[in-house]
Amino acid sequence: MNLNLSFRLSFFTLWALLGVVRGYYGRKTKTHSSIADVKEKFKIGLEDMGTVFKIITAIITVIGVAGLVLYLYSPSWWTWTVIPLGEWIQWLGIVMALVPIFFLIWVHRHLDKQWSIALEIQDDHKLITTGPYRYVRHPMYLGIFTYTLGLMMISLDVLVILFFAFTIWVNYIRIPEEEQMLIQKFGDEYLEYKKRTGRLIPQLRCGHV
Ligand code: SAH
Repeated sequence: MNLNLSFRLSFFTLWALLGVVRGYYGRKTKTHSSIADVKEKFKIGLEDMGTVFKIITAIITVIGVAGLVLYLYSPSWWTWTVIPLGEWIQWLGIVMALVPIFFLIWVHRHLDKQWSIALEIQDDHKLITTGPYRYVRHPMYLGIFTYTLGLMMISLDVLVILFFAFTIWVNYIRIPEEEQMLIQKFGDEYLEYKKRTGRLIPQLRCGHV
């Protein structure tokens, strides 16, 4: 098997693997049990978007899906999107995508039924401050961003990179809104939690805790 094919297979296997993990926790926590649930939550996310943002998202999604299909089949006449960089980046990408999958299992076990692909407060929503949430407020985003970066490095494909970089950015810019929502729900408890944790990287604490 040639190396290019092996990297493509790794890319889609890692992609499917995270899908299985997310699907498992979606069902287990009953937060994303069916396609209808996921659609409903996507809708909530879309409601908050302005029209221009929706149009840009639609365009980049179409380009991204086309890019992924082309990357998957990699026809010989389609080569201009390939970035000619060393294959060591692709090997590193495999590690960077694989390790976060285990990390994300840990995150899901703690976030449990508070998880949602939309920004929302569930009935009986608890503030989670355990496990990875002891150190950072957004471990799920940290894991997903690192994993996505890994997939980008495996593909070394301009269209795939453009699409995935966009998904990272979309999730990153919603952090302030998410925190505002949690401050409204939990008030001082969240503000205190915010003081002692980092956003994506743990705080370096000086002296005794
Ligand atoms: N941003 C978090 C969670 C992503 S899932 C992370 O990266 O780990 C998004 C949902 O998680 C939001 O709808 C929000 O209600 C919920 N959430 C985020 N942080 C939380 C926390 N510390 N405790 C409970 N729920 C939280």
